[in-house]
Amino acid sequence: MIEARGIHKHFGGMHVLRGIDAVVPRGKVTALMGGSGSGKSTFLRCLNRIEEPSEGEVLIDGTVITDLRTDVNRLRADIGMVFQDYNLFPHMTALENVTLGLIHVRNKPRSEARDAAAAALGRVGLADHLEKLPQQLSGGQQQRVAIARSLAMRPKAILFDEPTSALDPEMVHEVLDVMRTLATEGMTMVVISHEMGFLRKVADQLIMIDGGLVVERGPTLRVLDAPEHKRTREFLSAIQ
Ligand code: ATP
Ligand code: MG
Repeated sequence: MIEARGIHKHFGGMHVLRGIDAVVPRGKVTALMGGSGSGKSTFLRCLNRIEEPSEGEVLIDGTVITDLRTDVNRLRADIGMVFQDYNLFPHMTALENVTLGLIHVRNKPRSEARDAAAAALGRVGLADHLEKLPQQLSGGQQQRVAIARSLAMRPKAILFDEPTSALDPEMVHEVLDVMRTLATEGMTMVVISHEMGFLRKVADQLIMIDGGLVVERGPTLRVLDAPEHKRTREFLSAIQ
């Protein structure tokens, strides 16, 4: 379980997160919704300290990870992240991209790391593409490499920041299918996505963020079908 308590974030004079509390239950899918600039990505990135909160605490299974003693490389392997633009190393093959963290963060011997990386790539349907460079893969395949890179680390949770918004429409479903399978297998996930059909089927809870604050949260279907807050209603009618 991930728990955020009173998260604030300032960028210079801008107060972007203004006290966010959230609980991400183990084995569930939590989706963050909200308009552009509302603070979704910043909040997500605070959960594994890619962004440092200015104030507040994040706990993973009861352990505070927003303190100086935390090994952030290990934290980011435990709480993986998948970005809109994949962030793969362009000069490395799919297999090498996935192997890297296993060797350097999980301290696996090279041959064991390669086996684990190949297995993770197999899970996302890329067993036949291990030796390809990112540029030789489609966007959907590159994104699946990025998911495999997180998965191979045996994370406690994976954070997804608009994982399909850079993809051509025909590639969106192959990434969402992988995410749906992970959810079914019990992976703890936090997802920022505007794929409402996907959220409806896969997300257990929705958290609506506006102006750096949570304005509404609840079970997905309740929030989508009977939104209580004005901003949620406005947001849903704008995107649907
Ligand atoms: P979008 O839907 O467009 O991705 P978002 O909800 O993810 O939006 P954030 O990216 O979290 O929004 O940004 C929230 C606010 O913080 C925005 O005003 C943004 O310009 C600002 N911001 C984000 N990152 C930085 C940064 N590194 N430096 C300065 N300002 C930032
Ligand atoms: Mg964002």
